[in-house]
Amino acid sequence: MERTPEQQAQIDMAKRLKKKEVVDKKIAAATEERGVSILLTGNGKGKSSSAFGTMARALGHGQNATVVQFIKGRKETGEQLFFGQHPQVSFHVMGHGFTWETRDPELEQKAANQAWEVAKQALADERVNFVLLDEITYMYKYGYLDADDLVEALANRPAHQNVMMTGRTAPRALLDSVDTHSKIANERHAFEGGVKAQAGIEW
Ligand code: ATP
Ligand code: MG
Repeated sequence: MERTPEQQAQIDMAKRLKKKEVVDKKIAAATEERGVSILLTGNGKGKSSSAFGTMARALGHGQNATVVQFIKGRKETGEQLFFGQHPQVSFHVMGHGFTWETRDPELEQKAANQAWEVAKQALADERVNFVLLDEITYMYKYGYLDADDLVEALANRPAHQNVMMTGRTAPRALLDSVDTHSKIANERHAFEGGVKAQAGIEW
């Protein structure tokens, strides 16, 4: 039997109310107030840019942030040029050694240790509301740092502190410990279509 538009509208409204009831119940159940750890992995584009976008939100609310980028690109990135100037941001790019292009294990190890010291300090600092550890997961993939140290520092950090971490793959211990994990899939990328990497999009 065909429904009249009025009947259909009533059914739609009932469905929407049911959905709202479910969402309201979930909202009522989420009462805990504390900082969260967020991990973004996967081969698709959008991990670092999402982390910096979230940091912009935190800054907008007057919060303080520390950034540690564990991989230094060839060029100065837009995020460093922009957020590096921001009075609420302490911005660190892993000094020498680790880039996408060159490999020098000794230098890389030294740089990884130094960057981890900065990250560890931020994770222990009450005044830092938001910590961004960009591309940190490569340090575990290449064996320069121990993921258990990160898991421990995350567990012991100030209760209100939010942390975001990025990288294509992450070790099991980290995957198991974070509050939120999103995996960004690569459905298509302009690069595969022959479009050259560009400022403002890639770096
Ligand atoms: P973005 O910084 O744009 O959010 P990302 O952090 O998700 O990217 P990374 O894995 O860190 O990506 O890759 C670093 C660089 O490679 C970035 O310049 C990004 O734009 C580019 N890139 C990301 N995903 C792809 C892909 N699937 N194919 C080609 N290039 C990519
Ligand atoms: Mg990235």
